[in-house]
Amino acid sequence: MDFKANFKTLCVHAGSLVDEQHKGAISPLYPATSYAFNDVEIGQYPRYFNTPNQRGLAEKIAALEGAESGLIFSSGMAAVSTALMSHLKSGDHVIFQDDLYGGTRNFVKSEFPKYGIEFSFTKSTQIIDFENEINANTKGIYIETPSNPTLKIIDLNGIASLAKKAGLWTMIDNTFASPVNQNPIKHGIDIVIHSATKYLGGHSDISAGAVLGTPKTIDKVFQSAKNFGGNLSEYTVWLLERSIKTLFLRVHAQNENAQAMAEFLMRQDWVEKIYYPGLPSHPDHYLAKNQMKGFGGMLSFNLIEGIDCKTFLTNLKLVKPTMSLAGIESTALSPRLTSHSLLTEEERIAQGITPQMIRFSLGIEAQEDLQVDLVNAIQKAL
Ligand SMILES: *Cc1c(COP(=O)(O)O)cnc(C)c1O
Repeated sequence: MDFKANFKTLCVHAGSLVDEQHKGAISPLYPATSYAFNDVEIGQYPRYFNTPNQRGLAEKIAALEGAESGLIFSSGMAAVSTALMSHLKSGDHVIFQDDLYGGTRNFVKSEFPKYGIEFSFTKSTQIIDFENEINANTKGIYIETPSNPTLKIIDLNGIASLAKKAGLWTMIDNTFASPVNQNPIKHGIDIVIHSATKYLGGHSDISAGAVLGTPKTIDKVFQSAKNFGGNLSEYTVWLLERSIKTLFLRVHAQNENAQAMAEFLMRQDWVEKIYYPGLPSHPDHYLAKNQMKGFGGMLSFNLIEGIDCKTFLTNLKLVKPTMSLAGIESTALSPRLTSHSLLTEEERIAQGITPQMIRFSLGIEAQEDLQVDLVNAIQKAL
């Protein structure tokens, strides 16, 4: 069966385990933590990331990203921290974009100094600002595009060619886009990271992460991963494989809902500003169009002065005011009060995060129901 080129088919079938015994239609679950000795290779064990279900799922996500190899972790941060630490030692320097996922920013700022690893944040998402940060001890560039919560887009080809020229590795957190909307390896990025807690899981009931790349880079990550021990439970591995079968359908519907919502918000006089790469008015719209297959299910907007964000959020009935994102149910939050509360006010202002900002993760509900919900909540918050 050759379905290598078709993303929808890969979502359903890539990496599936065959049930030889009973011929069931889905992957069997192998929860064993103890396997027979095997002389030729490293023995199978969950913390060696090589049990049947782990391997199948890694193969599936790698296929979706156009990668040759991958590892599955117990959270997005386990994936982020292990990928970074496996590629760094004391005295090295890494370049990060300024508007980074809060947990990653926190990890870098609180852990790197303990190990003598240097880092800098760029002033903008322009390639020149990355180039300006390159020092003699710089080893890599770490990016996130679209960024959180202002949905800035970074030029993947530009980053990859800058890094190749300077002899640096590149890592991207591709969580916001999901493999449905963006495949950074095709643009020359070395390592792709996912918080599978978000779109890959998609139902707000799984915590997991993934790292994808060439067999050589993934082996390097594995050498640290087996020491750090952030492997995912087999039960959750199995559930995540099940979830990814509908990844294309879900994210496609979320893209459509986000685009329609962005266009609806543009017509509202209670909205001051909208951040969505699918709008031609977005400063990076053409870049997004060039490197993404869809514009994603995340958008942010600023309410006009005088509308209280908290009152607005608490009066939403359908859209849930919750922390996380990417589920099939729509959720919204105030980045200032939640996801970015650990940043200083100065850092928030630099990233454009104002008290009036709402970050919106579109689910798969009917668009008109979502619009009615927002309008009702605004009327109570005016
Ligand atoms: C949620 C998230 C993470 C961290 O993932 P966890 O599964 O919560 O550890 C990393 N990056 C981005 C962009 C995220 O949204």
